[in-house]
Amino acid sequence: MPVSCSSCGEKRAALKRPKTGHSLCKECFFMAFEEEVHQTIVNASLFKSGESVAIAASGGKDSTVLAHVMKVLNERYNYGLELMLISVDEGITGYRDDSLETVKRNQQQYELPLKIVSYEELYGWTMDAIVKQVGLKNNCTFCGVFRRQALDRGALMLKVDKICTGHNADDVAETVLMNVLRGDIARLRRCTAISTASEGEGVVPRCKPLKYAYEKEIVLYAYFKKLDYFSTECIYSPNAYRGHARTFLKDLESIRPSSIIDIIHSGENLSVREGVKMPVQGTCSRCGYISSQALCKSCVLLEGLNRGLPKLGIGKHHRLHGKILSQQPLTEKEERKLKSVEF
Ligand code: SF4
Ligand code: ZN
Repeated sequence: MPVSCSSCGEKRAALKRPKTGHSLCKECFFMAFEEEVHQTIVNASLFKSGESVAIAASGGKDSTVLAHVMKVLNERYNYGLELMLISVDEGITGYRDDSLETVKRNQQQYELPLKIVSYEELYGWTMDAIVKQVGLKNNCTFCGVFRRQALDRGALMLKVDKICTGHNADDVAETVLMNVLRGDIARLRRCTAISTASEGEGVVPRCKPLKYAYEKEIVLYAYFKKLDYFSTECIYSPNAYRGHARTFLKDLESIRPSSIIDIIHSGENLSVREGVKMPVQGTCSRCGYISSQALCKSCVLLEGLNRGLPKLGIGKHHRLHGKILSQQPLTEKEERKLKSVEF
């Protein structure tokens, strides 16, 4: 016997909500999903009327749903935001070039301005070229560090007040787990924050309106709304460690769906004991971007690439920052160690 929607009681239920287990018709599901995002935005006061907000768009399901929902809510509740899309082109042939085509279609469908910033134009390196030099083990370190800065640079060019990203509840829970597993206290403390204030010159505040939205529901929303998104995985995606954390989380979710929210709540409520040493934020002496070292991670990685010493930015080589800045030569031993790609 067909089940009727537990919300309107009229239409036939089209799905069972992964987050609550409620059987809902499509329209009631859309409304419930959108209202939860609206509540997240209101409760955390993510935006102020009149602000311009760049939505980080990759063409994937999360950012496509984010762009769609932000546009719907901005109109429904008169947020008074000026929305635009910003995309990063990492230079990955067969992946990003195709997903950017999706973003370009989204731009037309949602009638939002779009800015694309590329690694090639910002750093002189594409991910294709980086992978050729560093191999497939640490490529995501380069990519992640460069992306963070690229988004900020793009947002500064657009002169926006905020960036919002499509991080969902699963991503946040996964990051909590990873930071616990790695003992990375500084990141653990930051990773559940729904928004970050500007940490300094050149850093645009960021927020995550989908922080409490389950990945499964984002997929359902995109599917039932027939949103145009790109679902292929990056061809350079080795990130084995994150993959294990993800599998572990999915296993937990299959036994107890609330595990995702529970882990986020645990992360939110953890506090760091007094006396734990935290990195002190300063600025990079070369590019001015925030950094707790003399050089920011991006500049160190770039220096390593340009000098043919790819290991420079992997692991801790802080004591070499002074030498790099003052352009002193490295010793043969130091160079040898940093050249190897087997890391
Ligand atoms: Fe970049 Fe790694 Fe993500 Fe690919 S999987 S886009 S290389 S961070
Ligand atoms: Zn720098």
